[in-house]
Amino acid sequence: SSASTPIRATLFPGDGIGPEIAESVKQVFREADVPIEWEEHYVGTEIDPRTQSFLTWESLESVRKNGVGLKGPMATPIGKGHRSLNLTLRKELNLYANVRPCYSLPGYKTRYDNVDLITIRENTEGEYSGLEHQVVRGVVESLKIITRQASLRVAEYAFHYAKAHGRERVSAIHKANIMQKTDGLFLKCCREVAEKYPEIKYEEVVIDNCCMMLVKNPALFDVLVMPNLYGDIISDLCAGLIGGLGLTPSCNIGEGGIALAEAVHGSAPDIAGKNLANPTALLLSAVTMLRHLELHDKADRIQNAILSTIAEGKFRTADLGGSSSTSDFTQAIVDHL
Ligand code: NAD
Repeated sequence: SSASTPIRATLFPGDGIGPEIAESVKQVFREADVPIEWEEHYVGTEIDPRTQSFLTWESLESVRKNGVGLKGPMATPIGKGHRSLNLTLRKELNLYANVRPCYSLPGYKTRYDNVDLITIRENTEGEYSGLEHQVVRGVVESLKIITRQASLRVAEYAFHYAKAHGRERVSAIHKANIMQKTDGLFLKCCREVAEKYPEIKYEEVVIDNCCMMLVKNPALFDVLVMPNLYGDIISDLCAGLIGGLGLTPSCNIGEGGIALAEAVHGSAPDIAGKNLANPTALLLSAVTMLRHLELHDKADRIQNAILSTIAEGKFRTADLGGSSSTSDFTQAIVDHL
């Protein structure tokens, strides 16, 4: 894509530290000449009856129309009669896969320096279907739903991702030895898709064994695909391997190829408005958005500038043990571009 025709992308700065770290992204994108024109949408102060939430219909339409967006953290207001913001986004945009790249940041020391994993989590069903009830007093039941359609869809995405990003292997994570029907169907779907990608190695790993292997030697894995609950847990485990949620980007993939990137952390009300937040996770999320758009040159340039700034160690925010402000850290990234 050429620099002369800007791509429109939706931007939700979000709440708390959201606007401050979104400002970093806008500045870095401007300085790197990224051909993106942001369409900014804020969370409303009243419930929109068309979405039953504080997110406006227009903001959702903006993501649908643009097909790409970046979302800062959102604090769901407390009170009855509305849907949570993240649930509204997930349902209305049919965000079926959550993708989290986890790689070691050079110069930021953690237990391992060779982590390079992608977790892909099914995001619409499984244990999180919300179908729970009491059978009789003292006995409750929760239904885990696995469908062929949703399993094929996420498996397809995982293999497509592996191929597009030059990855070698996809591991399906499961507990099919116990959850024979549900996880069994999930695996069956993964196998079907694997057959269409003979160039990508495919393996199946039981979730408990997977946890042990990840903690002992994360380099054993490449791309991991899994049902909802396992994905929730494993993706946080992987974020912990590289230094925590403040550094971890993610991207949600929706029906029709929508990509909505977001940082994994929340709105950090304790440091909001103080120019203290670390914008790395949101910046790296914005990088995943650029990769989705196949703007790899821009993505590499920005990612390298972020990593060099952190590796150099002169400018780091407080969460990484430094004393830089959000704006000084951002300026250092710009200087590295
Ligand atoms: P949080 O992630 O906001 O904060 C946890 C701790 O990490 C805090 O001490 C905070 O200062 C720190 N932290 C988080 N991000 C940081 C950053 N970029 N730089 C420096 N420090 C950072 O989690 P919480 O306090 O449990 O939640 C606060 C609010 O965020 C709640 O309203 C919650 O609902 C919302 N939330 C939203 C999302 C989302 O939009 N995806 C995710 C999680 C929480």
